Amino acid sequence: MYKKLFIYFLAGSLLIGLAGCETVPTAPGAVTDLKVLCEQYNVQWYVDNVSQVVSLRAAGREAKALVGSNVVVLDGEKIYLTDSLRRERGTVIVPPDFNAKIIQRLVNAAVARTGYHIVVDAGHGGKDPGCKSRNGTEEKDIVLDISRRLKQNLQSRGFKVTMTRDSDVFISLEQRTEIATRSKADLFVSVHANSSPSRSVDGIEVYALRDLEGSEKRDPQRMKNQRLMCRSLTMQSGNMNLEAIVAELLYNYKISESQLLASYVNKGTSLGAQVASRGVKRAGFHVLRNTLIPAVLVEVGFLTNSQEEMKLRQPDYRQKIADGIAASLVSFSAR
Ligand SMILES: [Zn+2]
Repeated sequence: MYKKLFIYFLAGSLLIGLAGCETVPTAPGAVTDLKVLCEQYNVQWYVDNVSQVVSLRAAGREAKALVGSNVVVLDGEKIYLTDSLRRERGTVIVPPDFNAKIIQRLVNAAVARTGYHIVVDAGHGGKDPGCKSRNGTEEKDIVLDISRRLKQNLQSRGFKVTMTRDSDVFISLEQRTEIATRSKADLFVSVHANSSPSRSVDGIEVYALRDLEGSEKRDPQRMKNQRLMCRSLTMQSGNMNLEAIVAELLYNYKISESQLLASYVNKGTSLGAQVASRGVKRAGFHVLRNTLIPAVLVEVGFLTNSQEEMKLRQPDYRQKIADGIAASLVSFSAR
């Protein structure tokens, strides 16, 4: 629904023609026609004619404004403009500080934080094919391809990327969490494809870690990773009290950040691939439970749904999924 309502504006020949007629350079902030501003900076925008809500999106970030008001909400933060937005001759006129305060912040979210390190975990592999479609498409192949595209996209933006697997090999769940810990990365993203007994079910899903029971926090693999991580921190080694405090801090940080990360990835992927989302969910999957850094698991679609399976077999679609995930990681890291 939402996706159909978005209008994509590309820099058209008309705009270039008009710009060519200019004899005086345009002063910053002089452009107050929202349509022209969005064309210039490749921002997607849409006005709901009933509610008068203006939605803007770029790089997985979203801003919402209201015609008649000077307040804009950008990723949950309220920003006040010098004047209200107003409708005029079929477009929206914005105050002069709209460009600097809103458009530039949306666009600049595309700049990645240098040195940010992400573990990309392609699910399954080797003897473990994951789920299968009726005509034999295997999850392990789809998710490896998407993960490679994701890696390429992230590296091109300056991120450091570690893959848990980069070929058709079997890696245990325990090994995956250890790779994440030893790499000292900032985030962990696991890529999977879904299945359902109902063939009509489709869409993406993004999982963050649910709260853990005390016994789950003491899982042997979790404890092992904890010791590995504590060893890499500059702290008094062997001080169990200190290790326990650090572990609890890491756990609380992981829970809150993972939830936020999941909402970014959910929005960014759904928008990037123009695919419906089944929402952000919480679960205790091994790779979420036993990694110590913020982590999400993305289900990129259902192989049991023939239309979605057909899409996932298209390289262009897999690229869109990867680009959507990448854009959301960029936005998350640039907060
Ligand atoms: Zn899977």
